[in-house]
Amino acid sequence: MSNDFPELASGMAAIAKGFHARGWLLGTSGNLSAVVQREPLRLAMSPSGVDKGELRPDQMLLIDEQAQPLSDSRKPSDESLLHVQIVKERGAGAVLHTHSVWNTILSELYAADGGVTISGFEMLKGLQGVQTHEHTEWLPIIDNSQDMPSLAVSVAETLNEHKAVHGFLLRRHGLYSWGETLAQAKRHVEILEFLLETMGRTLHIQGGVKHGGSHDSQ
Ligand SMILES: [Zn+2]
Repeated sequence: MSNDFPELASGMAAIAKGFHARGWLLGTSGNLSAVVQREPLRLAMSPSGVDKGELRPDQMLLIDEQAQPLSDSRKPSDESLLHVQIVKERGAGAVLHTHSVWNTILSELYAADGGVTISGFEMLKGLQGVQTHEHTEWLPIIDNSQDMPSLAVSVAETLNEHKAVHGFLLRRHGLYSWGETLAQAKRHVEILEFLLETMGRTLHIQGGVKHGGSHDSQ
């Protein structure tokens, strides 16, 4: 398999612009990748330190399976190794990572539970393979770290333990999701961001009550 790098790079830049406009990739936060080739593994990767509202297709880098840049002297995103890990574990064709307000809030609020249970919403049907709103989606939460090799190991362990998940949260950090294609990965981020915001806003309306506890009784 070999995909067209310029085409993927344009798609990634367009997604970054759209996500930035929605407040999910503010400043230089978040990152994007897409598989150019499987054997040997080559990914189109967003660069480090570039404003995601201004990201251009010609700024994307080509990286190898060690997350090292092949074509450029610029630096790929710090979290490139996590993208490589997800591609290897899931056979994903694209990986997208957002830092939204709601995914950050819920990644902390549910950290003690180890993840967020999402069930009963029609929007769940936007996740690949989900046929009914009665589906229960588990979104694991992994403790954040600046040590990327060790975080990549945690990601691999989590994905092996939870084979059916469509994404995961890094605590107080952000959301990772993926898909067979860039379009599917984008759809999964949109669905998960919608669901997290819906749950977060619901909790807010209810006065911050989680798991049926009473706000007033504290
Ligand atoms: Zn991040």
